[in-house]
Formats: sequence, structure tokens, C-alpha cells
Amino acid sequence: MNVQEKKESEMQITYHMIDLYCRKKHGTRNGMCDECKELEAYARSRTACCPFTATKTFCSQCKVHCYGADMRERIREVMRFSGMRLFFKHPVMVARHMIETKKAGKQ
Ligand SMILES: [Zn+2]
Repeated sequence: MNVQEKKESEMQITYHMIDLYCRKKHGTRNGMCDECKELEAYARSRTACCPFTATKTFCSQCKVHCYGADMRERIREVMRFSGMRLFFKHPVMVARHMIETKKAGKQ
């Protein structure tokens, strides 16, 4: 995976996690609510300008917390809620991501 692919995969997973969270927690059916859209856009912008994509794999593992305190709390809650649920929904996508994460850890 090159850096661009990693960024895209991270954005995609983040999107699915927030989307799932919003549907279950906020009861939305067609797309996310404004609050979750804002969070997704924020996460996307952080990933897009992350200088560490080449050496790390996912924001949850990043030692440099570039999220503001408020957004960090929100994304954490989303990940807690959606992490395992997303795995059952999109096992291939998440498994691929986990494999990449493991590989990066060994480097
Ligand atoms: Zn929402």
C-alpha cells in the first residue's frame, strides 16, 4: 500500500464508523446528521494532512494526537461504538486494514 492508498483506506473506514454510529445513535437513515458530518469532515482533513501516514497506519495508533480535545473525545466514542460492529459488517475491509496495521508495527 502506498501513502495515498493508506490515507484513502483510513478515510473510508472512518467514514463507515461514523456513518454506522450516526444511524444507530442518532437514528438517521439517509446520510449523517450535521454533527456527524462535521466530525467526518474533520477526521478527513486531519488524515489528509497527516505527515505520519507513511510510518503509522491508523490515527488510533498515532502518538501525535492532532485532533483537538473535543473532536478526539467524539471520534473515540465513535470508534468504541463502531469498531467491532464494523468488523461484522465489512469483515474484508477491516481485516485488510488490521493486516496492514500489523505489518507496519513490525517495521
Ligand atoms: Zn449523528
